[in-house]
Amino acid sequence: MQDIIKQLSGSPITPIKMSLDSKFTFMCHKGLECFTHCCGKIDVFLTPYDILRMKQRLGLSSQEFIAKYTIMAELKKTKLPLLMLRMTPEGRCPFVTDSGCTIYSDRPVVCRYYPIGFAILKSRELGGDDFFFPIKESYCKGYNEDREWTVREWRQAQEINLYDDTNKFWFDILLSKKLLASDLQPDEKSLRLFLLCSYDIDSFRNFVFESRFLKVHDIDSETIERIKEDEMELLKFAHRWLRGVLFGDPEYKRKDRKE
Ligand code: SF4
Ligand code: SF4
Repeated sequence: MQDIIKQLSGSPITPIKMSLDSKFTFMCHKGLECFTHCCGKIDVFLTPYDILRMKQRLGLSSQEFIAKYTIMAELKKTKLPLLMLRMTPEGRCPFVTDSGCTIYSDRPVVCRYYPIGFAILKSRELGGDDFFFPIKESYCKGYNEDREWTVREWRQAQEINLYDDTNKFWFDILLSKKLLASDLQPDEKSLRLFLLCSYDIDSFRNFVFESRFLKVHDIDSETIERIKEDEMELLKFAHRWLRGVLFGDPEYKRKDRKE
């Protein structure tokens, strides 16, 4: 994900490849003079599950959250729209105070990874495995602490696996090489659907339950119950459905179209 941020912001971070078993020392706490210095002048790329967690935390609809707290960027090659956290006019994160992050248990995955970066675009372009790299900002004193971690332990401690699992199908879309083929470049309608299914879960729910969607798609009753009750399941469903629409291999087929 940091790789996406690098493309968007032109950050000078140079990746040093780390695996899940690579070790580093780090600890972040209120006693450090740099406490919260990192929560400003940064590009915080938001995944769909980040937005779900934050809008639930703040008691906002997804549309309200998007309008108030995000700005839009786009992926260089495929032009897919991506949302990033909107900084205040002073360049600070809207959720930081002197005592720390006010949405800490629902902070975005980029904040969870820090001080580790996660490269997935470059590695998949090169046909290799995803890899990690350290982000060593000169002001960050956390690296001087002696608590040792492997990248795997750090990911567990930050609950990153849950974010990866929930965003899995979305990343499949985002990183699909199919989107680089000229005949599959998304048109206006596909880009609108991408925005809806990626970030605006409340509008997607209306689309599913208040339109003809359930009448025209072949979706089993167990799935319907699950996505009705659980927003996380609805989000994963949105990504699976979108993948089918964009790539022409629908998992949830329309009743009126014979394959
Ligand atoms: S140690 Fe690093 S991550 Fe923690 S507050 Fe300081 S600058 Fe931020
Ligand atoms: S969301 Fe929290 S951890 Fe992330 S930049 Fe903002 S204040 Fe810092």
